[in-house]
Amino acid sequence: MTPTEALAQARPRRRTRQVRVGAVRIGSDAPINVQSMTNTDTSDVLATAMQVAELARAGSELVRITVNDEAAARAVPHIRDRLAALNVDVPLVGDFHYNGHRLLAAHPACAEALAKLRINPGNVGQGNKRDTQFAEIVEIACRYDKPVRIGVNWGSLDQSVLARVMDENATRSEPRPAGAVMREALAVSALESAAQAEALGLPGDRIILSAKVSSVQDLIAVYRDLAARCDYPLHLGLTEAGMGSKGIVASTAALAVLLQEGIGDTIRVSLTPEPGGPRTAEVVVAQEILQTMGLRAFTPMVTACPGCGRTTSTFFQELASGIQAHVREQMPVWRERYDGVENLTLAVMGCVVNGPGESKHANIGISLPGTGESPAAPVYVDGVKTTTLRGDDIAAEFRSIVDAYVASRYPKKAG
Ligand code: SF4
Repeated sequence: MTPTEALAQARPRRRTRQVRVGAVRIGSDAPINVQSMTNTDTSDVLATAMQVAELARAGSELVRITVNDEAAARAVPHIRDRLAALNVDVPLVGDFHYNGHRLLAAHPACAEALAKLRINPGNVGQGNKRDTQFAEIVEIACRYDKPVRIGVNWGSLDQSVLARVMDENATRSEPRPAGAVMREALAVSALESAAQAEALGLPGDRIILSAKVSSVQDLIAVYRDLAARCDYPLHLGLTEAGMGSKGIVASTAALAVLLQEGIGDTIRVSLTPEPGGPRTAEVVVAQEILQTMGLRAFTPMVTACPGCGRTTSTFFQELASGIQAHVREQMPVWRERYDGVENLTLAVMGCVVNGPGESKHANIGISLPGTGESPAAPVYVDGVKTTTLRGDDIAAEFRSIVDAYVASRYPKKAG
C-alpha cells in the first residue's frame, strides 16, 4: 500500500483553524508535525543549542525548552543565535510554569526569540492571581505576535476548575464516575482558558490546545471530547509515557487511535530516555508512528521478518539493522538531493518462505538463504528479480544497489 492509499483509508482530518509557528503550519491541511523537548539546563546555552540542533536534525519540527528561571530566560536569545550559527531554524517553544508572566515581562528578548509560548493553566498562578498572571502572559503573546499552546495536564490540573466540575457533578441526578469528572475538568480548563485568551485579544488562530494524561483510555476519551467541542488545532501526547518499549507502546496505542479518527495536528512522544540514551529516540518514534500509519513519510522503512528456526544465523538481523542504519545516515543528504526518497521501501527477509513475496512488494528486497538453502540471495527491484548475491560482500553489494536505485529513481532537486 502506498502512503497515499494508506492516507485515504484513515478518517478525514478534523477541520481546524490553522496556526503558524514561525515557518511551520499547524492544523487544517498542514502535515501533522513532530515535536520534542530538550532535557538540558536551558541556562547552559551551548548544551541546549546542541541538543535542539540534534533534535531538529533528527526531524523534530518544533522544539520546546523549559524557561524556568531568570538564567533560562536570559539564555533563550543566545540559544537562538547559536542555532542560527549552526544553520538550524527550527522554531523554539518556551515552556512556562508559575513565573512565566514575570520572566516574559522582564526579558523581552526571550519573548521575541521564542516562536510559541506554552502556558499550563493549572499553575499559571493561584487564587485571584491566576487570572491576572494568565492575562499578563496573553498580553505579551499579543504584543510579540506569538501563538500560545494552552497545555493542561492532569498532574497539574487547575484545582478551582476541578472543584467546580465536581460540585456540578454532585448536583446531577446520576453523578458521573471520578474518571469522567477529571476528564471533563481537563477539557473545561483548556476550553475556558482558550476563551479567556481570545477575550483578552489573542486571535483564535494563534491558539493550540492540549490535554495530556498518562492513561491511554483517558487520553483517547479526553481528546475525542475536545475535538468535538472546538476547532483549535490539537497537540497530542501521552504524558509521562515511560521508558523503553512501555513508553513506545503506550504512546503508539493512544496516538494511533486518535490519528486514525482524524484527531491531532502535532504530536510528541514523551519517552523517558534510557540512561545515556539519545534524546532523539522520541523523534524517531513519533515519525515512525506517522509513517507506519501512512500519514507522512520521513525515512525509507525497512521491512524485516522476525526470523525463526529456518534461519539460525544472525546474518539477516545484521543486514536488516545495517540497512536501516545506512538509510538513516544517508537521509540528511538524500533529502536535500532527491525528491520523494522518503517513500522508498526496503525488505530484508530471512528465507524462501516469505522472502521473495515480501521482497517483491518493496522497492528493493533481498531474500537471504535460510538454513539448508543454497547460499544465494536473490534481489528484487520494483517486483522483478534483478540479481542474485553470493559470498562475503552481500551487505556492501546490497547497500550499493540501494544507493544506485535512489540516485536513478528519484528526481534531483533543483539547485
Ligand atoms: S521469512 Fe523465513 S526466516 Fe523469516 S520468519 Fe518467515 S519462515 Fe522464518
